[in-house]
Amino acid sequence: MSERKFDFDLAVIGGGSGGYAAARTAAAAGLRTVVLEGGKEVGGLCILRGCMPTKALLYAAEVRHLAQYGALWGMKPGDVPFDWGAVMARKDSLIKEFADDRAAQLNDGRFKFIRAQARFVDPHTVALSTGGTLSASHFVLSTGSVVSPPPLPQLAAVGYITSDEALTLRRPPKSLLVLGGGGVAVELAQFFARFDVKVTLLQRSARLLKDLDEDAAAEIEKVFRREGIELFTGTMLTDAWREGANKGVTFMHEGKQKRVAAEEILFALGRAPNTASLALAKAGVTTDKGRILANDRMQTSAPHIYAAGDCTGPFEIVHIAVQQGEIAAHNIAHPDRPRRMDYRLLLHVVFTDPHVAAVGLTEKEARARGVRYTAASYRFADHGKSLAS
Ligand SMILES: Cc1cc2nc3c(=O)[nH]c(=O)nc-3n(C[C@H](O)[C@H](O)[C@H](O)COP(=O)(O)OP(=O)(O)OC[C@H]3O[C@@H](n4cnc5c(N)ncnc54)[C@H](O)[C@@H]3O)c2cc1C
Repeated sequence: MSERKFDFDLAVIGGGSGGYAAARTAAAAGLRTVVLEGGKEVGGLCILRGCMPTKALLYAAEVRHLAQYGALWGMKPGDVPFDWGAVMARKDSLIKEFADDRAAQLNDGRFKFIRAQARFVDPHTVALSTGGTLSASHFVLSTGSVVSPPPLPQLAAVGYITSDEALTLRRPPKSLLVLGGGGVAVELAQFFARFDVKVTLLQRSARLLKDLDEDAAAEIEKVFRREGIELFTGTMLTDAWREGANKGVTFMHEGKQKRVAAEEILFALGRAPNTASLALAKAGVTTDKGRILANDRMQTSAPHIYAAGDCTGPFEIVHIAVQQGEIAAHNIAHPDRPRRMDYRLLLHVVFTDPHVAAVGLTEKEARARGVRYTAASYRFADHGKSLAS
């Protein structure tokens, strides 16, 4: 570590999944570590408003769906009424359990945990929102992401909900317009549709889940249409408006102008790095449209500052945030034996029903990069376990 005396060897800014992974790795390697967490709640996106609540709600939707279609397995299903408050309450109690667990981990004394928003005043010092400053020899930035601004000013005027509000609605809307076709959009679309919400989904790209192969996306589109979700792909939003109690959008689709309206709009067109509060210029950290640029050792343009998770990307996947946090902390503790991120076996899952999972390059990416590949498929009808369920 450097000659100058610092309060800590490592300050981790952001106590979400990436930040916690960096802190526990650094503390285990013997670094005097502090985590600075500025959020109102402790837990980070995955636990509080991301992976965990969506998975809890999707499971409730699957249970209802199976009960409704139980005849296939010899049950005598009827109407399956639900108690929305109870569905939400179960999700809330799970989230509380996870968040309490994370808070206990952050407070168990392996490192110092401070509840404050941090902002650089020079490359080795941050000012805390609670007052005072703190210095560290090294930093890991893991401040996560925020919902992207809407592409149309009219949309902001009309109003919409994001995934944050969608996960805490006191009652389901009668109808919902989902803008977006990525993982968050499709998971929430299916969740609401399975609780009797009339869902219409608008996607800019030609296919849902554009990062996956066409055949996987086509399967999800088929299931969605079968479950009554109205899908428009290859669209371009041109306007947003209110009509009585409803909110609506105008868009171009197959060369024609179309209008759709619903009780609520769910804006799920993506997230952006949450770095504006850090004053990164004071620390000499380079960004591109807010995204912290880091090399494969997770080191930024300031050699003593590393980054992990959604604030640096290139993926918004929780186990990638964790791995990046671990690698950043390892490289700070052991500069003599660096580790590098390697995305060749990137794994990600979309938790629709059916799930879609991918490991490594998709066929689409292999084609785009000119990589030679072999494509193979296996008949679903020959897979006994899948047919059974
Ligand atoms: C609806 C939804 C569903 C998702 N589902 C999945 C899924 O199924 N699987 C999956 O892999 N991923 C999923 N994700 C993505 C996943 O949640 C994120 O990739 C992951 O949580 C990112 O972790 P992080 O540590 O980078 O950021 P976060 O967990 O967001 O942590 C950042 C922390 O930094 C704090 N902070 C910010 N600025 C400052 C500052 N200046 N000072 C101090 N603290 C600060 C914040 O308060 C926050 O606690 C989902 C995301 C959403 C929105």
